[in-house]
Amino acid sequence: MPQPSQPFSLDCTYPCPVCRQGSLQALVLTDAFACNFCRHILAAELEPQRVKLVDSLHPATWRWVGDRWLSATPKSAEESWLTWFAATFLAIVPASIVGIASYLFPPLPNQPGGSFSQVWAWLTLAAHLGIVAWLLGEHYQVLLYLRAKLRGLRRQWSGL
Ligand SMILES: [Zn+2]
Repeated sequence: MPQPSQPFSLDCTYPCPVCRQGSLQALVLTDAFACNFCRHILAAELEPQRVKLVDSLHPATWRWVGDRWLSATPKSAEESWLTWFAATFLAIVPASIVGIASYLFPPLPNQPGGSFSQVWAWLTLAAHLGIVAWLLGEHYQVLLYLRAKLRGLRRQWSGL
């Protein structure tokens, strides 16, 4: 690992800002680093001492401050508003449609499985909340989500 007084360079090894488990090593003949654990590729910008995640849809950027990385990803208010609106829409609307349908078209009396449509509405809500949590974890690179993802990768790799 680099000493705090050393400038940011391709000759050093740095901790990975994405997974916080592996280390970044320079790729030969490129201005990029690769993590030996999560295998993400980060483009190096030596003058501003930054790395940018290039193999992800979410363009995350970190700045080296001598001993650790600080997030330098610009977050626009419009992007944040749109993300949360889409997440709320995806979680609420499908479950609401199923729930409203169960009230508009109730099951016939004395039929088996009478409350199945309401259970199905709650299952729809739970499934869509799970999908939204997964997408938000990927989008914001939430630390708890990343740790759970890495635990899964470790199990997968140790099973090989
Ligand atoms: Zn990594």
